[in-house]
Amino acid sequence: MKKTIKDYELSGKKVIIRCDFNVPIQDGIIKDETRIKASLKTIRYARKHNAKVILLSHLGRIKNEEDKTKYTLKPVAQMLSKLLRKKVTFIDQTRGEKLNKAVENMQNKDVILIENTRFEDLNGKKESGNDKELGKYWANLGDIFINDAFGTIHRSHASNLGIASNLPNGIGFLVEEEIKKLNKLIDKPRKPYTIILGGSKVSDKIGVISNLITKADYILIGGGMAFTFLKAAGFNIGSSLCEKEKLDFCKKMLDQYPDKLILPIDVITATEIKENVKTHERFVNEIAEDEIGLDIGPKTLEVFKQYLDDCKTIFWNGPVGYFEIKEFANGTKQLLKIITNTKAYTLVGGGDTARAATNFNYQDKISHISTGGGASLAFLEKSNLPALDIIDEK
Ligand code: ADP
Ligand code: MG
Repeated sequence: MKKTIKDYELSGKKVIIRCDFNVPIQDGIIKDETRIKASLKTIRYARKHNAKVILLSHLGRIKNEEDKTKYTLKPVAQMLSKLLRKKVTFIDQTRGEKLNKAVENMQNKDVILIENTRFEDLNGKKESGNDKELGKYWANLGDIFINDAFGTIHRSHASNLGIASNLPNGIGFLVEEEIKKLNKLIDKPRKPYTIILGGSKVSDKIGVISNLITKADYILIGGGMAFTFLKAAGFNIGSSLCEKEKLDFCKKMLDQYPDKLILPIDVITATEIKENVKTHERFVNEIAEDEIGLDIGPKTLEVFKQYLDDCKTIFWNGPVGYFEIKEFANGTKQLLKIITNTKAYTLVGGGDTARAATNFNYQDKISHISTGGGASLAFLEKSNLPALDIIDEK
């Protein structure tokens, strides 16, 4: 078990909390505050226990000076002040005199937000490359480090791994909750347990397939990746996505798990990927040479529904169609409806899948939508998670 914020005496201590404030901001206005709200529990706990709270986060990617105006964390400080009903002091630098002074003068329960950690990337990728000096500098600002940024748990950054290497540390409530919920898919998931996998590429999902196939009863395959499987099964897939170098992997999986891997029987095709294009409903043995498969068809939805209806656990990663274009969104939408009508524990992971669930307004009907896209997959694949692995055990 990892140490958590609860394992520390916080009173009078400077507690550095790595948050995930990587939120969409347009012209200084925050478009989705879910991640900010998700961080409040840990911040409130630290304040309640009389800590001095120093917050750090990245926002977007910083490649040039202009990106700095676009990706300043200042609007987040304003939003946090409102939500906490306490002024959050924003420091418009990632290091320097102003920051040092502000930290020195902190009173118990004060909150400081430091500027976007990725501003340090402009000068030799110091944040993303986990520059040793930078990690040490930030660590020196505080007494205890709490990592509550689940979305970057699979990354080695100065603001997570770097600081944690230099201070007593633990995880926050958000990371603790994510681990608990994702572990439900690994430790004795309630059966029947079905996984829906989609998205564009097989190569992105090989780790998840290999690791979860033994845990689940069925894996339903949709999205672009279904076509490499269909081709491996002997179908002509026309101009659909195909990863030639993954055909062997797909064939091997189909041979080994013929009753577990469920492929589409019909698909929606078009000759171009654009709005208002003419679409065709095709059985998988009817796809024409110039057609691209872009969604699962209605008969596949009926089949998938039978595998999902009486499930006790459902994990979904990867949209089953090109849902950004309305002509190819039906499969993903209908599946959201199907899984939210079951009694199963439903967990959605993956950045685009989470976006689809929210866009189509199913976010409140799903048991858990992971706040980390790549991070949730890395967790399920049991890959190394440097920013979590470094955290002290109890
Ligand atoms: P996640 O971020 O949830 O892990 P991915 O990044 O793997 O999901 O996949 C999402 C992308 O897959 C979406 O942008 C979607 O348009 C694309 N996609 C889904 N089905 C197809 C398809 N049949 N052909 C091409 N792209 C597809
Ligand atoms: Mg994605």
